[in-house]
Amino acid sequence: MQLVILGSDGVINALPDEGSTSPLEWRPIRGSLEAIARLHRAGWRIIVASNQPELAANTLTPEELVRQHDSMRRHAVESGGVIDAIFYCPHAPDSGCGCHLPATGLLEDIAARQHIELTGLPVIGDSLAYVQAATAAGARPLLVKTGRGFGTVSQPELDPSVPVFNDLYSATDYLLHPPNPAMEN
Ligand SMILES: [Zn+2]
Repeated sequence: MQLVILGSDGVINALPDEGSTSPLEWRPIRGSLEAIARLHRAGWRIIVASNQPELAANTLTPEELVRQHDSMRRHAVESGGVIDAIFYCPHAPDSGCGCHLPATGLLEDIAARQHIELTGLPVIGDSLAYVQAATAAGARPLLVKTGRGFGTVSQPELDPSVPVFNDLYSATDYLLHPPNPAMEN
């Protein structure tokens, strides 16, 4: 069985402040739920990982986060997919915790709890934090241009070898139908 780690805000759902009248309204990015359903049907396990510094800043309550996660899981199921687990860092960026992306603690926690190796594991995110955490952990970063991704692609710190996709749907296409190396000969 294969496993993929996905960001949530900006990868699966629109960023909470993107023109929403209700900051708690959960809105999928176009094609993201279909992408999760395709991965699920192809036998992949899907794990969501994110920083949630709003908890430490008290601009988001644990109950509100639970509701957001419930919405995400329900939307995934209604679209024919399954989100197997959700992991997040609840700490402030300057807390010095080991789990705030780009630190690798969250990815290592996922690996330990899911009994998998991080080496080569695809991690799909919209920010440098995901790319850097995945790279440092020996995983395989993929960047999407949704959410913060459109700005991330032009950051000089971005390793140019990281593949960039318009959205989760096209990144999923790439995972399910990887280019055949033999074709390059
Ligand atoms: Zn943390």
